[in-house]
Amino acid sequence: MSLQPVFRFAPSPNGYLHLGHAYSALLNQKRAHESDGRFLLRIEDIDLDRARPEYEQAIYEDLEWLGIHWEKPVRRQSEHIEDYLKALSKLREMDLLFSCDCTRAVLAQFASSHNNWPRDPDESPLYSGACRAKNNYISLRLEHNQKFALRLRMEEAVARIEKQLFWREYNIGNIAANPGVWGDIVLSRKSTPASYHIAVVVDDALQGVTDVVRGHDLYEATSLHRLLQCLLDLPEPKYHHHGLIYDEMGVKLSKSQKSISLRALREEGMSAREVKQRLGFW
Ligand code: GLU
Repeated sequence: MSLQPVFRFAPSPNGYLHLGHAYSALLNQKRAHESDGRFLLRIEDIDLDRARPEYEQAIYEDLEWLGIHWEKPVRRQSEHIEDYLKALSKLREMDLLFSCDCTRAVLAQFASSHNNWPRDPDESPLYSGACRAKNNYISLRLEHNQKFALRLRMEEAVARIEKQLFWREYNIGNIAANPGVWGDIVLSRKSTPASYHIAVVVDDALQGVTDVVRGHDLYEATSLHRLLQCLLDLPEPKYHHHGLIYDEMGVKLSKSQKSISLRALREEGMSAREVKQRLGFW
């Protein structure tokens, strides 16, 4: 019996979608269509400080305008926090978490006072290790104002796997995962009870996602996702990290750069057909 492929597009409602999102959504839909698979939309609103209902509404409108169809109901991460807390509890039982009250400012200060302090693939300084030895109380209750973050004991987590981890990259083959480059990553923080990394692996597993098709900006994060999948005993999807879309100046489109949104293009008179043509889907 062959498994029906399951694809998903998983935007975060913290800004308007741009051409890069349109490319990802269209590619997921195309791959699902070609393989007789399912196509899901997931709203990644786990960052409770940044997610906004108007952006979520805009996601539905922009995708409908593009002619994209997804299965209902849509999974919204903010409604499933218990699922992520369960995964965190499991890691805590394995003694792989520690609580940390270092502020970003203190960590930045630590890194700048140490020559060539290593950085993670997102360019943030690796964790200093200051709280690692503390054996303080870890609360996994959902408290929006909890005083500390939870970090993964990376070295111990990697040691626990006892084998080289890989992921299967579409059209390429096995890629060696290297989660250690992320250091003791934050898996829960004060305002956000579960990080993107925990939520994404739990959701992909619960939704039976077989094929993760997403932008190349998340390529390095896949090492971490494979580690969490192994620790939590979750199935391994296949991955396809597609190229990113750049503007005329050669700058990568991103919400934080306030790249021109799909709705702005629409207001300027661009049709959905023109968007698809520009992205090579027509
Ligand atoms: N929510 C993430 C974003 O908007 C994408 C996550 C994923 O595809 O794994 O960048």
